[in-house]
Amino acid sequence: MPRVHLVTTGGTIASRVDPQTGAAVPAVRAEELLASVPALGSVAEIAVTELCLESSWNLGPDRIASLARAARDLQADPEVTGVVVTHGTDTLEETAFALDLLLDGDTPVVLTGAMRDASTAGSDGPRNLVSAARVAIAPAARGLGVLVAMNDEIHAARWVMKTHTTALGTFASPGAGPLGSVDGEGVRILARPARTPTLPPGPPEPRVYLVKMASGMDDLLVRALLDARARGVVIEGSGAGNVCGSWEGAIAELVQAGIPVVLSSRCPGGRVTPTYGAPGGGRRLRDLGVIAAGALSGPKARLALMFALGAGLDAAGLRAHFERLGG
Ligand code: ASP
Repeated sequence: MPRVHLVTTGGTIASRVDPQTGAAVPAVRAEELLASVPALGSVAEIAVTELCLESSWNLGPDRIASLARAARDLQADPEVTGVVVTHGTDTLEETAFALDLLLDGDTPVVLTGAMRDASTAGSDGPRNLVSAARVAIAPAARGLGVLVAMNDEIHAARWVMKTHTTALGTFASPGAGPLGSVDGEGVRILARPARTPTLPPGPPEPRVYLVKMASGMDDLLVRALLDARARGVVIEGSGAGNVCGSWEGAIAELVQAGIPVVLSSRCPGGRVTPTYGAPGGGRRLRDLGVIAAGALSGPKARLALMFALGAGLDAAGLRAHFERLGG
């Protein structure tokens, strides 16, 4: 029988409502989660490790780095057919993408979670867990990079994002679509995109910040990052990658101070393209030395910068790294 190693981190899939407060909190330990889904036993032999029991908004790059180390070891174990990671859905796309940046093995690593906690009628956790295990043992999922299995769909870590606060079908890959699906017949992979170029593992640089552009906002936040000597700045611009014209001075100073500035777009789909020449326009930002993040969202571009700085990439290395990631 195939072997799946389940790594649990918490999230709604491991939450139940506390009767005292009426609020859902992570409370279901790994063994209990496993025991609550007996159907897993007919998919694979399952071993389990509890990495933590947290809401995903409280996980950070250090936890992601230790998850990456655990997943790397599991990928190197010839007895393990596939790895499933349970995770809160809020930041699932960030962890999935960071793992994709750090893991180069072919053994499937599949993240999943739930939108409805274990104590809610119609909870989607058990089905998602079974689907993720089926993907993790599927020969067609080998060598595809890190995957997300939710709501019967399979998404690539590079493109997937949470698009709805509560809907079961919250995960989508804008502009790309899912790589495949899971149904009663089995696992279907429809597309095999090129692997995400990986980085040498290193401790992520924590002092990298994300600033979102909004119409007419002054440059206070960008200047604060300059004054605080941030190690890196990601800006989520409007449209094809534009910011308020008043930010240009602070951005130029950041670049001159050797602080990398990476530009993504607040649009869920499409790439950053240096098109416009008005103040704050993408062409002018490129000329100031800003690095384009291609189709990566702001949160993903931030992780790409944190781990690239942690891997010791210099300015030219960073530029090349984002060009490789750009598609
Ligand atoms: N709402 C989240 C979830 O769906 C909670 C979390 O991200 O931890 O799992």
